[in-house]
Amino acid sequence: MEDIDNLNIGKEEVERDNDCIFCKIAKKEIPKELTYEDDNFIAFLDINPKSEGHTLIIPKKHYKTLLDMPNTLGNELQETIKKVSLDLVKKHDVGGFNFIINSGEVAGQVVHHLHVHVIPRKNDDDVNFIC
Ligand code: AMP
Ligand code: ZN
Repeated sequence: MEDIDNLNIGKEEVERDNDCIFCKIAKKEIPKELTYEDDNFIAFLDINPKSEGHTLIIPKKHYKTLLDMPNTLGNELQETIKKVSLDLVKKHDVGGFNFIINSGEVAGQVVHHLHVHVIPRKNDDDVNFIC
């Protein structure tokens, strides 16, 4: 039960968390150059990139994990992942991608606002992951 509480499964967090750095970026309360924006999602470069072009896609609303995000946003999230990735292909020498969502602290989630890591990959880039 403890893990389920930590994940906040099924408890949609629509309201922003006052201490959430990604909410502050989404609300433009702290400056951040966005590489993509639409009504529900934004994208920006990761401050500690695993590879050139490492990008984070986040919903503007505060959902802790994918499990909290309404299914109605699913298609739009997928479209956003594709758009952001195709832009990265135009800008960088990309051979492929890792799309990663860390969900819950035990799985490595540090920022508790849903985010998709879009990590461009190329041969011999020396990037290593758990899986
Ligand atoms: P995770 O471990 O999945 O929660 O990843 C959080 C990611 O957010 C890390 O890769 C951080 O480098 C990144 N990050 C944290 N703060 C910022 C920020 N202000 N701007 C851009 N990326 C950030
Ligand atoms: Zn947030």
